[in-house]
Amino acid sequence: MDNSFTKTVSLFDGSVETGIEPTMHEIAERYPRTMAAFAAMNAQDHLERIIRLDAVWRDIRQAVATNQPAPLHRDTWRELPASEFAMLANRVDWQGDLVYAGAGLGLLHALEMARHGWRVLVCDRGEVGCAHREWNISRYELQAMVAGGSWSWEELQSVIMNEYTDGIVRFFLQDDAAITLHLPEVLNVAIDAGALLRLARTKFLHAGGEVRDYRVFGDVAVSPRHADGVLIHVTTPDGSYERYQARLVIDGMGTVSPLSLQRFGGRPYAGVCPTVGTVASGFAEGIAGNEHNRRLGDILVTIADAQKTQQYMWEGFPGRGDELTVYLFYYDTLQQGKKLSRPTPNLLELFEDYFGLLPDYKRSDREVQHHKPVYGYIPARHSLRRLEAPLLRGVLPIGDAAAQQSPLTFCGFGSHVRNLQRTTGLLDVLLREKNEMSDLLALVTPYQANVSLNWVFSRFMQPWGDADIDVNQLQGHFMQLLTRRGTDFATRFFRDEMRWSDYHKMVLGMLCAYPAIMGIAGRVLRVKGCTQWLFDYLRFTWEGMLAAAGRMVGLTIIQRIAVDLPMTWRIRLLAKINEWQVMGWDH
Ligand SMILES: Cc1cc2nc3c(=O)[nH]c(=O)nc-3n(C[C@H](O)[C@H](O)[C@H](O)COP(=O)(O)OP(=O)(O)OC[C@H]3O[C@@H](n4cnc5c(N)ncnc54)[C@H](O)[C@@H]3O)c2cc1C
Repeated sequence: MDNSFTKTVSLFDGSVETGIEPTMHEIAERYPRTMAAFAAMNAQDHLERIIRLDAVWRDIRQAVATNQPAPLHRDTWRELPASEFAMLANRVDWQGDLVYAGAGLGLLHALEMARHGWRVLVCDRGEVGCAHREWNISRYELQAMVAGGSWSWEELQSVIMNEYTDGIVRFFLQDDAAITLHLPEVLNVAIDAGALLRLARTKFLHAGGEVRDYRVFGDVAVSPRHADGVLIHVTTPDGSYERYQARLVIDGMGTVSPLSLQRFGGRPYAGVCPTVGTVASGFAEGIAGNEHNRRLGDILVTIADAQKTQQYMWEGFPGRGDELTVYLFYYDTLQQGKKLSRPTPNLLELFEDYFGLLPDYKRSDREVQHHKPVYGYIPARHSLRRLEAPLLRGVLPIGDAAAQQSPLTFCGFGSHVRNLQRTTGLLDVLLREKNEMSDLLALVTPYQANVSLNWVFSRFMQPWGDADIDVNQLQGHFMQLLTRRGTDFATRFFRDEMRWSDYHKMVLGMLCAYPAIMGIAGRVLRVKGCTQWLFDYLRFTWEGMLAAAGRMVGLTIIQRIAVDLPMTWRIRLLAKINEWQVMGWDH
């Protein structure tokens, strides 16, 4: 392969220094608990990844806060003159319909597209089909995978590590006044993500897909002639370049995807949850809140008021045998002009707190064994707009690179799975009907109006004043409200199926039960946030009215009418109906 194209290195392959990062010696001094635990897990190589992630996020956070250009982002997408594009397109290492850069959720998507009959290639900087996460989901959501026809329940059963009867949400209140909300069918299935993706790889290859392991994304080029498609360059392990040509590149490179950074001018998200944890065993078993109950998952739990200026949250999901996957995280917002005065612990600091606070969360009578670390910055958008920046032509983001999951529950895997048939079905229609990829591509997204509006709720998960009890106190009132409304209501909210009428019951219910919320909202959201919420609410209401009208006419009738409409309208209508279906707004 020739090297005539721009030689670039990925920011995220470890080859670029992003600032003055701590050495291992400094880490051992500053984060002794973390260093010891990582050594015991034989996971020191993860420390380097964590340092790199922290550096990326520090720079993004600072750039957004000070309204400066983000130092990290570089142009990895560009348009070339048609002649230059044609010259490069003369020599390609692979040609087909779709190239997936990033094989996390991307691999599940790619499998569906290969089964639709498209020529698909998946590449990743690591091994395709290798997971570094633990995923929780509900059987209800997994059903979407089975309904699509690519997966059977037997296959999914083989990757389910545990399924428990109940999940709880509880916010700490003094004097044991905390209310426990029980949600039996939310995040109660623990998936072995590695096994799922390994199986997906086998099935993908069987469906005719191709994989390229250890390929670091370089860049994407398009020509002024839309029909030319795209060229994507990757670096191979021996340092040479490969060039693939396809109709579309699917960006599945996660939270700090270089393409996503370019698209958003280096400021990719509005909100983020720094999250750390481990898969661990050795906790005392029992039914008390601070004991490990194999039949119970902690969906969202606080065990104290704000610590280190942030309200720490815990999650604990039983896995195989006596294993428990535990996460510690907090909600953070990337806001222009936001003072950096409130310290925002990075992943290393959070890990140090995690190992220090873990005994308060779950007690143990013997030494807790940590098997592997889990961590990441989980991204979210804070607006009700489907697109906050135009798509880069020829590039479709999915998964965390698109970040359309709930800004409250941050369940990117759940959102991807729930919407998988919707997004792949729509993409299939577009590829069949259009020779060139148009603005209709923006419809191929797991965006849900009822999920996006939750950005408002997530803003009340961060302390807003000097009082450490703020978040817990307010959420205590919210828990009371959800308990009064019943399990189905709360389940709809946490499973991203909130209805238009649910929203009003929540907002008005909070106003009646806790009038102080008005003043708090003013303080937290300020004029700008309140105005944005008002417009988002109007948009949400419009969506609710459209869905109600759709239900009145009947979705089957609309689908029949759509067949005779011009293609653009047909696809728009189809996309709308699909959105109502995943939101539970179709009945
Ligand atoms: C600690 C933690 C716990 C979570 N728990 C849950 C849960 O229980 N339920 C749930 O629904 N969601 C959960 N999430 C969210 C969920 O894990 C993510 O939304 C999901 O993994 C995103 O998948 P992705 O494929 O978009 O990105 P990633 O999983 O980040 O995958 C990106 C892929 O792209 C590759 N890549 C990146 N850069 C390049 C490059 N330059 N060149 C080539 N390849 C590249 C990477 O190697 C990787 O394979 C959790 C997240 C975290 C951090």
